[in-house]
Amino acid sequence: MDDAWKPRTRAVHGGTRRSQFNEMSEALFLTQGFVYDSAAAAEARFRKAGADEFIYARYGNPTVAMFEDRIAGIEGAEDAFATASGMAAVNGALFAMLRAGDRVVSSRALFGSCLYILEELLPRFGVEVVFVDGADLDQWAEAVTPGTRAVFFESISNPTLELVDIAAVADIAHAAGALVVVDNVFATPVFSRALSQGADVVIYSATKHIDGQGRCLGGVILGTREFIRGTVEGYMKHTGGALSPFNAWVMLKGLETLDLRVRAQADAALAVARALEGDARLTRVIYPGLPSHPQAALAARQMEAGGTLLAINVAGGQEAAFRFLDALRIFRITNNLGDAKSLVTHPATTTHQRLPDDQKARLGITPGLVRLSIGLEDAGDLIADLRAGLDAV
Ligand SMILES: *Cc1c(COP(=O)(O)O)cnc(C)c1O
Repeated sequence: MDDAWKPRTRAVHGGTRRSQFNEMSEALFLTQGFVYDSAAAAEARFRKAGADEFIYARYGNPTVAMFEDRIAGIEGAEDAFATASGMAAVNGALFAMLRAGDRVVSSRALFGSCLYILEELLPRFGVEVVFVDGADLDQWAEAVTPGTRAVFFESISNPTLELVDIAAVADIAHAAGALVVVDNVFATPVFSRALSQGADVVIYSATKHIDGQGRCLGGVILGTREFIRGTVEGYMKHTGGALSPFNAWVMLKGLETLDLRVRAQADAALAVARALEGDARLTRVIYPGLPSHPQAALAARQMEAGGTLLAINVAGGQEAAFRFLDALRIFRITNNLGDAKSLVTHPATTTHQRLPDDQKARLGITPGLVRLSIGLEDAGDLIADLRAGLDAV
């Protein structure tokens, strides 16, 4: 890979390894193991595997390595470790680096499973976790005491699309000696350069935009070579969160079209947000690319565009929201996001059902809140579908 290549070029060519057949499209090495020419060669490889020398697919696989190198190239990371899911990536990054007695500061507005790891699991192992309101820099500054080991946050929170200022939180964290771990799923590798803004570790659920067609689970941890190979690799390869070669191949090919897809989806999301804003049947339209977003200036500074997700609040609460969802014909009711198909979710009763009511209220997850993931359909058709849905309320 040429150092001067832009992310779009890296997304197509980065990481490619060709076998002796010189295949055009990247090969799917659907193999759990590798054979050695001799007993001595096996011994040597177990002692120290060289570049592109593989032992067992839980440790690494050529198709998985292509995916890791390609996403690292797009992101501008020294290295990457691919994982079985986004949650395997969050779990792997945190458990690999933390030990009893460590302190972690996290934003409160988190994906449900991330919250489970931080709120339930880490404290069981003696890690102190302190939650803050991610948009409030004063709370970060107060909570990140000297010696704090890590800060964790979603750069754009689910489902209320609140941003965390990566550069400002990174300044606070680095002054205290803490690592900055960012779940960057909603921002996407296309619109965000979290590493250059101060993140030390970036995590994606590849299940979302990277696959982008709802087929496979996958995830990835990106960071320095020292962090990935020195801290993460040992934990991941011995605890079994490896990405399947088949899923890696789907994700690898997904990266080739990621930029095109995500930009088209974000253009449509902006068109939808503009069309819905001001509709009297909605009490809120939240989209980071709209000037009305409370953090519009930060969004413009931190991201190249507003992303593929928006949140709206249907007047009339849960009953009205359900009638709206049920009347939609293009948007499918599901909890995935980042797909070529437009999707709709009612967070209060599904993804965030487990949260007590006071927590929901605190996070803005109201009964009328609906999350929309915009796909690759015609934006006019999507707007018509949403308006028809609102008419049905
Ligand atoms: C989906 C998601 C995850 C988890 O990813 P999986 O691939 O489902 O394990 C983590 N964080 C965020 C923000 C997500 O949207």
